[in-house]
Amino acid sequence: MKELKEFQTETKQLLNLMINSIYTNKDIFLRELISNASDANDKYKFLTYKDSNKYPSSEHEIKIVRNKDERYLEVIDNGIGMTKAEVISNLGTIAKSGSKEFLEKVSKAKSDKEFDIIGQFGVGFYSAFMVAKKIEVYTRSLDDTTGYLFTSDGIDTYSIEAIDKKDHGTLIRVYLKDDSDDFEYSKYLEEFTIKDLVKKYSDYIKYPIKMDVTKKEQVKDEKGEPIKDKYEDIVVTETLNSMVPIWKKPRKDVSEADLAEFYKSKYFDYHDPYFSLYIKAEGLLEYNALIFVPSHPPINLYSENYEKGLDLYVKGVFIKDHTKELVPDYLKFIKGLVDDDDLDLNISREMLQNSPLLTKIANNIEKKVIDKFAEIKNSDYEKYLKIFETYGSYLKYGIYSSYGNKKDLLQDLLVYSSLNSEKPISFKEYKDKMGKDQKYIYYASNKNIDAIKNMPQLEKFKQKGIDVLFFDNEIDEFVTMILNNYDNVQFKSITEEANDDLSKEEKDKLDSLNASYKRILDVLKESLKDKVDDVSFSTKLVDSPVCVENKQGVSLNMEQVLKEQPGAENVAPKASKVLEINPDSDLFKAISQLDDDEKIKSYSSLLYNEAMILQGFEIDNKVEFVKKLNQLMLEALKK
Ligand code: ADP
Repeated sequence: MKELKEFQTETKQLLNLMINSIYTNKDIFLRELISNASDANDKYKFLTYKDSNKYPSSEHEIKIVRNKDERYLEVIDNGIGMTKAEVISNLGTIAKSGSKEFLEKVSKAKSDKEFDIIGQFGVGFYSAFMVAKKIEVYTRSLDDTTGYLFTSDGIDTYSIEAIDKKDHGTLIRVYLKDDSDDFEYSKYLEEFTIKDLVKKYSDYIKYPIKMDVTKKEQVKDEKGEPIKDKYEDIVVTETLNSMVPIWKKPRKDVSEADLAEFYKSKYFDYHDPYFSLYIKAEGLLEYNALIFVPSHPPINLYSENYEKGLDLYVKGVFIKDHTKELVPDYLKFIKGLVDDDDLDLNISREMLQNSPLLTKIANNIEKKVIDKFAEIKNSDYEKYLKIFETYGSYLKYGIYSSYGNKKDLLQDLLVYSSLNSEKPISFKEYKDKMGKDQKYIYYASNKNIDAIKNMPQLEKFKQKGIDVLFFDNEIDEFVTMILNNYDNVQFKSITEEANDDLSKEEKDKLDSLNASYKRILDVLKESLKDKVDDVSFSTKLVDSPVCVENKQGVSLNMEQVLKEQPGAENVAPKASKVLEINPDSDLFKAISQLDDDEKIKSYSSLLYNEAMILQGFEIDNKVEFVKKLNQLMLEALKK
């Protein structure tokens, strides 16, 4: 009995887009159908490896049939097939996140050009409706005795009915739309079009893609001798693809463009990757791998349900996608596959988790990816900066999360903006340019570059020409904490109170100031005792009257970052703060003339809050601060 069913709403939207497709690249429908057929064969083959009694091995292939009279094209596989329930859930609804994402993209696309790009997106089975006025799917699951026929014109509904079908597998029959002024759909019935498309998009499919083709052959006489100039058409079945997966082809036969094309079609991206790696490991470890670093981070990379990992093949047979054992967390953005000949095809999930071989492959791949980063950093710095902008924080995370174990691998890949450089620089470049008396690699840490540039502590560094690295990522300071030093040079925050890098002159000046103004310092210290641990004179300020420093340990910026962690408000460690005063500032000169301790006290919180605000931090009691300010203004106005 034939049942009529309605497509799910989202499916309807997608189908509507396909039918009224304005994309130029309709060709991809064939690639999508072939790829589904290949997956179905893979799934069958996989079951055979697991249980060859129940699922006897068979020769798998994909057949393409053209029928010019009835204007249809068929793609046929002898794979796993679908049960009735599977037809409904796979073809009646969009289960795939890629398709949902595609829909979102389409609804956001504004220009024709954007639409065009989207046309390169893989949308699977439904893309056939770009060229079809009707589609029939004849399928039989290998676990089923009945077959099913799905029929739809792609508008709102489809029908499904039981049919007799001798073999397991699926036949997809696409009735082509009528030719119009805009598009000649009948080209898909032509032998050369199909040959061309298969070569272009599906050459590496590992099952033979067979099609009947017409050849001209010389007619032979009775003796079997060819007759001159006499030819006849004969039909032969030809395999259209070379069947060698791209990762098994000799390197010289694979171009960068081939790799990029493969990446885009396999991982549903419409941008070329930043780079592709073609790995053919030989020797102790033998495997083939293709690794891609996407030029746009995968859309759900930051979400919890993002699945990292590479596709795993064993002896050319697909085993599992998102094999997480193959990728360390900090490289979770890479895409690609590994094909290994030494693993057992029957490998179970538990075995995967504990396979020393996979660990070795993973380490090997990690090293190669990192080497490639380093190579690009040396050869094409502009490109590297782009890559770093996208993934730099992951490299930092690699150092942090490994407690420094990956220090040697990763630390030279980090680059930072700095006070004196136009482009971001590495620790090594910083160190190479350091003056011989400079003891530390200085950094300024704050929530963004603007806030960093406004930090009063930078003033002296500017004046002295000493470079300072800008840390605008929360993780930066934690990374230096883990690293502790770079090539034996310690890191130091410019907000850290430090007198061991001062000249003798500067030290003497500080000592004498501290002695002369002890009374004022003591008054300030007493009145600010809830806020700071100390008050002293600064050697870092030029224009600003005050700044807040931290003693060794938790820095001011770290205190803010830690405080913002969920639930950490009251337990996060605090920085030990020092209010530092610029002895040359007019404000201090004026304060130093005051005899009245009470007056000094009343200015103290203003000084402290001013410093905090200048350094880009929140102040604790805004109401009190504003009241004080108003009171002072009033006093000044009344005078
Ligand atoms: P995708 O293949 O990317 O998952 P599709 O929309 O192309 O998305 O297909 C949806 C699902 O329909 C597939 O995941 C698969 O389960 C099923 N399917 C499609 N074509 C076939 C086929 N030839 N044989 C078996 N199942 C198929």
